[in-house]
Amino acid sequence: MTIPVTAVRTAVYRFPTPTPEADGTLSWDATTVVTVEVDAGERTGLGWTYSSPAAAAVIADDLAPVLTGHDAVDVTGAWQAMHRAGRNLGTRGLFAQALSAVDIALWDLKARLLELPLTDLFGRVHDRVPVYGSGGFTTFDDAELAEQVAGWQAAGCTAMKIKIGESWGSRTGRDLERVSRLRELAGDDAELMVDANGGYSPGQARRVGRILDELGVVWFEEPVSSDDADTLHLLRGVLRCDVAAGEYVADDRDAARLISSVDCLQLDVTRCGGYTGWLRCAALAAAAGLEVSGHCAPALHAPVAAAAPRLRHVEWFADHARLEPLLADGVPPVVDGAMVPGNAVGHGMTPAAGAQRWRIR
Ligand SMILES: [Mg+2]
Repeated sequence: MTIPVTAVRTAVYRFPTPTPEADGTLSWDATTVVTVEVDAGERTGLGWTYSSPAAAAVIADDLAPVLTGHDAVDVTGAWQAMHRAGRNLGTRGLFAQALSAVDIALWDLKARLLELPLTDLFGRVHDRVPVYGSGGFTTFDDAELAEQVAGWQAAGCTAMKIKIGESWGSRTGRDLERVSRLRELAGDDAELMVDANGGYSPGQARRVGRILDELGVVWFEEPVSSDDADTLHLLRGVLRCDVAAGEYVADDRDAARLISSVDCLQLDVTRCGGYTGWLRCAALAAAAGLEVSGHCAPALHAPVAAAAPRLRHVEWFADHARLEPLLADGVPPVVDGAMVPGNAVGHGMTPAAGAQRWRIR
């Protein structure tokens, strides 16, 4: 039985942040979301990625022609066909983000055609998907950080992450003061995590990392650029805290290059080839004895994270946690520090009517 894809539609939304935000190496005042809906057999699947509006053009111009008429149940075959179509464009970065959004929509569509929750299609290894609170922007003052931490505590999060590496590592004194402030706010039992977004030099990362160890920090994300796998590997050898990276992984080859350099592999379902790519990369991590952590996009991660035997947690990133319920109905809530994948068909989410307010094309 073949159920051909009959239509592929994109939309672009822009959600302003409440105030300008920054991490160690980038600042922003809005989050752009590119959504895709795929139709087949009188059902519709929904996917999205956090990317440039240009991802919508890639989907419409380069992926939709490959998909239209393809059997909607054959998601892996569609993935291969889309990936081949990107050969001359480059299959990573923007292209991978576009492909990821479509792959997510295809899996959602397949589960809806089969009238199954996506979690059951992938396999329900975990009944609950633990999340950690993530935000702590370098632009925050003390009161803003305190308010955010209180929100994470109210949701039952026992692990929380802030941004450090402010202004490309030029304010390490303030970085460390903010980590100490997080400890005061979060309490002695909380697992403290930091993300430098590649803002430090190798020597800085080693020196800051030693102090983070003294402060009891358990997770040091992108102490240096994740392009520098050699330095990540060296840091992994000298620091007690876990060294983490992987948010820019676009495929299994990218993941393989990072495996020996991290203690926990991060994977972003909106960048690494969708659910298909995420499961492939998670299997690579498992083969190396590593856990995986879902990067951003918490609602989209819920069904696939529940299927990963070596799952540590999913990032409940402030910007995405705020906008996902505005973008889609059916976003799983965080209760007692976890999302519980439900029994609705597909991933359970559909476009929210109110989202039109933020649509820009
Ligand atoms: Mg990060």
